[in-house]
Amino acid sequence: MFNHLIGLVYPVFLLQNFIPQLANMSSWYISIIKFLPGHIFVCMIGNYKLNLHILEKCNHHCGFCFAHYHLNNFMNLDDSYKVIEKAAESKMFYEVNIAGGEPLMFPKIEKVIQHIKDCNMNVSIITNGSLLDEEMLDKFLHNLTTIGFSIHSFNERTNQALGCCTSDGKTLKLEKLIRVCDYIKKNSDCKIKLNTTVNSMNKNELMAPIIKRLPYSRYKILKCQEYENNKRFCVSDQEFENFCKINGNLPNAVIEKDMHSTYIMVNPAGDLIQNHPTKPEYTTLGSALNDNFLELLKKLPLNEELYRTRYN
Ligand code: SF4
Repeated sequence: MFNHLIGLVYPVFLLQNFIPQLANMSSWYISIIKFLPGHIFVCMIGNYKLNLHILEKCNHHCGFCFAHYHLNNFMNLDDSYKVIEKAAESKMFYEVNIAGGEPLMFPKIEKVIQHIKDCNMNVSIITNGSLLDEEMLDKFLHNLTTIGFSIHSFNERTNQALGCCTSDGKTLKLEKLIRVCDYIKKNSDCKIKLNTTVNSMNKNELMAPIIKRLPYSRYKILKCQEYENNKRFCVSDQEFENFCKINGNLPNAVIEKDMHSTYIMVNPAGDLIQNHPTKPEYTTLGSALNDNFLELLKKLPLNEELYRTRYN
């Protein structure tokens, strides 16, 4: 049975080498279900997104941030190339999402973006937007499929209270966000995604009227996940639902209450890591730099149903 499935999949592997677009089609995938003693491994070829957390550093200090890997360093450029190449060779990923920390603080970010593109994968990036301007966009916009902005409030004081600001209290101004979004739309086909993490300080904010004026393709509402010392920013299920009630009825809004087992991520040390449903910390599954990617992914318990809701 398994040999027959491999027989079906292998020609598509070969075809991908000649028709790179096949590797870029997010809707295209083939599933092999391989039964191993004691567990089931589900392998979805070419249908995953890899989140490359290229650095931990950020110019903001949001109190609810879960991007703490206790590494406080950058992935070096060569290592980022190596992880990207291994991800491409595995044929498991149609896209690499560059995340952080704040990825725009990575000194050669346009090279990382170019390398992902050269490896025939889509590139997306998630940013707090504060460092982004037209000059920076000109370096890499043509290579991006999606830019995601993390926008947790439109109120300056709320952002400052949350730590969504620089150390001297500067927040991303709405005028700048509008200007940058317009520039992206006028100069590229890049999609704009907006993310809001619902927390104890924005839980009653009506954000929808401003969000709907922005040229977004997807608006994602996430629930603040408990992580180390961020308990005071967390909200109850009821509070989360209330926020979704007043802000979630926008076109293309996606509500994400639980992020566990729906996220494939590599940290700045090049390790594949996993978040936990019960523990506010990460587990290292192995090295994406040195280990076999397919073997590593077998160790990652993904909730396929939640994963598809998250990305489709
Ligand atoms: S902008 Fe993002 S990475 Fe930076 S502190 Fe805030 S949540 Fe964390």
